[in-house]
Amino acid sequence: MPQFRFDRLFIGGAWVAPIDGGVRDSVDPATGQPWALVAYGGAQDVDRAVAAARAAFEGPWRKMAPWERAGLLRKFAELYATQIEALAQVESRDNGRAIRESRGDIGLHPQYWHWFASLADKCDGRTIPMDDSVHAFTSRLPVGVVGTITPWNVPLMAATWKLGPALAAGCTVVLKPAEQTPASSLALAALFERAGFPPGVVNVVPGDGPVAGAHLVAHPGVDKIAFTGEGATAKTILKAGADTLKRFSFELGGKAPHIIFADADIENAVNAATGSAWALCGQSCALGSRVLVERPVYDRVVDAFRRNAGRVRVGNQMDPATHMGPQAHAEQLAKTLSYVDIGRDEGAELVAGGARIERDGLAGGYFVEPTVFAGVAPQMRIAQEEIFGPIAAIIPFDGEEEAVAIANGTPYGLAAGLWSNDVGRAHRVANRIHAGMVWVNTYRYIRWSTPYGGVKTSGWGRENGVEALDSYLETRTTVISTTGKFA
Ligand code: NAD
Repeated sequence: MPQFRFDRLFIGGAWVAPIDGGVRDSVDPATGQPWALVAYGGAQDVDRAVAAARAAFEGPWRKMAPWERAGLLRKFAELYATQIEALAQVESRDNGRAIRESRGDIGLHPQYWHWFASLADKCDGRTIPMDDSVHAFTSRLPVGVVGTITPWNVPLMAATWKLGPALAAGCTVVLKPAEQTPASSLALAALFERAGFPPGVVNVVPGDGPVAGAHLVAHPGVDKIAFTGEGATAKTILKAGADTLKRFSFELGGKAPHIIFADADIENAVNAATGSAWALCGQSCALGSRVLVERPVYDRVVDAFRRNAGRVRVGNQMDPATHMGPQAHAEQLAKTLSYVDIGRDEGAELVAGGARIERDGLAGGYFVEPTVFAGVAPQMRIAQEEIFGPIAAIIPFDGEEEAVAIANGTPYGLAAGLWSNDVGRAHRVANRIHAGMVWVNTYRYIRWSTPYGGVKTSGWGRENGVEALDSYLETRTTVISTTGKFA
């Protein structure tokens, strides 16, 4: 029997039963068994949520001064900080992320909320130099009602990165989390209620993508969709939203190259590269899943990967000693294992892992061994396609030109890393990589103030940084004749 109940939707400041959705089990991926009962919304529930968000946007939220909005967001940040452990417990239980990772990630979120709070009263425009006959200026206004659609790998992080800037900009929100991991988003809704946000400013409606998600996307009452998920889903969303010409921002997949030059501090590079290949059980868009290694250090790096794979403690995600929990759901488990077969069939050399783990205590869960393929060619599917499992593909290269060509040789462009002690090379190579983020002698350094997002098929727009506000604001230009005559 599920032990937790999140069996109401949060709409218009009230906890309500679904009208045309239902209540379902959410599964603990460590056991494959239900652990929580969760409310799912249908189209009518989405309609209610959009109406509540619209009423709040036209009413109390619009009337609130920007500094008052900032104050409320600061209060929320402080409340969030008191709930890190509770939120981490819910999120890890629901999506299988090791509790030590959830604590680390969610522990940073209050700072994100403080950062977005600090932007709320800085959405200012500019004065445009003209002749004396006119005064022209711009104002930056909230886009309106925002539908936010989030994935299962990092539900609270994705919600924080979207709701923070949306609320700071003066928008109201309907959040639809992924159907596999909705629990932590409902826990988040309870914090908005406790912090005293006006009813309807934030609404949370879990539901199936093709039902609740699709209805939100096509809804004429929604002004913008902020989406994190797969590129294929983004294309469906773009088509479904075309009739309303609403705004879109997309945070999509990646196949990040992590480049290790022979002149790098190899021990540091390898520890970063292995850690970031298997973090979140491989289920993060920015992980360095393609490890490009210069030939003189290739054997050494492959050996180190094999060694580090053996050191990863795979186990129940709620155990603080666990490094890597299960895959988040059964379909992802099947997908990851299918890529082990694909890699073998393509002729890559499996040097570690590759199997499901079903030993005592883990039977029935969606656990996979940390997996390493060496001798990978750049065009192999395991080097081109986003697997989203703990599979590192090691690709040898000779020199900068080849490294850059391989790094840029996928449709993705989210993130990249490079390790070198030659400062000139670091600049040269970083400058030529097509990605929204490049890390040099570090990896996955992400903060509230550093813009995050992809080029090519990895996305549209940026989250975090002051740039985060851009996709939640519209610019209005006002031109006033100073003479009272037609200028
Ligand atoms: P997904 O695209 O399957 O689902 C994401 C969300 O879209 C879910 O809430 C789902 O219910 C919803 N959805 C599905 N079909 C829909 C439809 N027709 N209309 C509207 N909504 C619909 O993605 P996922 O499997 O949950 O997440 C993994 C993907 O997310 C990976 O590709 C990963 O790289 C990407 N991701 C990107 C970032 C980033 O910041 N760039 C961060 C995390 C995850």
